Amino acid sequence: QSKARGRNQVTFFDPQLQFALNQRNDILRELIHATDKQELILYYQPIYNQQKAIVGTEALIRWNNSQLGMVPPDQFIPVAEQANHILVIGNWVLHTACQQLQQWASDKQRAHWTIAVNISAKQLQQKDFVDIVTTALTQYQVPPQRLKLEITESMLQEDVDNTIAAMSKLREIGVRFSLDDFGTGYSSLSYLTKLPIDTLKIDRSFVDNMINSKEDTAVVKAILSLAASLKLEVVAEGVETAEQMAFLISAGCQHYQGYLLSKPLPIEQLLLLDS
Ligand code: C2E
Ligand code: MG
Ligand code: MG
Ligand code: MG
Repeated sequence: QSKARGRNQVTFFDPQLQFALNQRNDILRELIHATDKQELILYYQPIYNQQKAIVGTEALIRWNNSQLGMVPPDQFIPVAEQANHILVIGNWVLHTACQQLQQWASDKQRAHWTIAVNISAKQLQQKDFVDIVTTALTQYQVPPQRLKLEITESMLQEDVDNTIAAMSKLREIGVRFSLDDFGTGYSSLSYLTKLPIDTLKIDRSFVDNMINSKEDTAVVKAILSLAASLKLEVVAEGVETAEQMAFLISAGCQHYQGYLLSKPLPIEQLLLLDS
């Protein structure tokens, strides 16, 4: 865009844009060192079944930087993705989650818990993604069934055949896949039958509006019935009220995640919850 404007043309100073640009640079400059400086932290948000027992957790990254403070993932993951640095961060997340699973293996109350790890498109498209995941599983002796990988529909637009092939290989050894933020993308539904996935995560926006919007109620019910026909599990994301929870239970949803049950927690606090 700036090229199109020409070299000698006056560009107007846009303080907001400038702020965003500075922030992006600041973020990237600091982010490069975040793993070495041990500033990355995994929080875990429990996922519950209808009996209110924890069946697993989702690992959600946090970055605690001395200059920038606690930076939420929505602010630094996109920066990391643009700069390819997501491969380093993604690997750290995978290893940290597998190490946690290894610790839970000898903990009777938690040995059956899964950890769901969010995966970026660039990670999934790496030629050696299958090796990267199997190496982590082997290193920490994790049964593949304990690991879930969360991907989004938007990741299935480029390089689809290779992506599905990699997913299928991992699934053969037992790793499971969830389709995150389901309902917000625009992939055709016929796609679902071709994807080696196990779980749909109903996007929080539908859960949020479900009680007040007939349309969103219809979407949630449609997702649940689609999932039942395709034999997929469903997790409802962003459950914040008892009313939403009651509706989801009555509609047959099996798994729940949201602030009503628990926020994402640092590991010490997660372990204080009733399992
Ligand atoms: P996501 O994977 O869809 O994760 C769910 C987000 O919803 C999390 O935000 C979680 O804290 C939030 N959430 C859970 N329950 C509720 C609720 O009841 N109400 C509301 N308002 N929010 C709720 P978070 O932790 O800020 O993460 C945002 C996004 O950043 C994630 O969305 C995911 O796309 C990305 N992300 C997080 N960790 C990682 C990671 O390790 N790797 C990658 N590639 N992306 C990550
Ligand atoms: Mg997720
Ligand atoms: Mg989500
Ligand atoms: Mg999301």
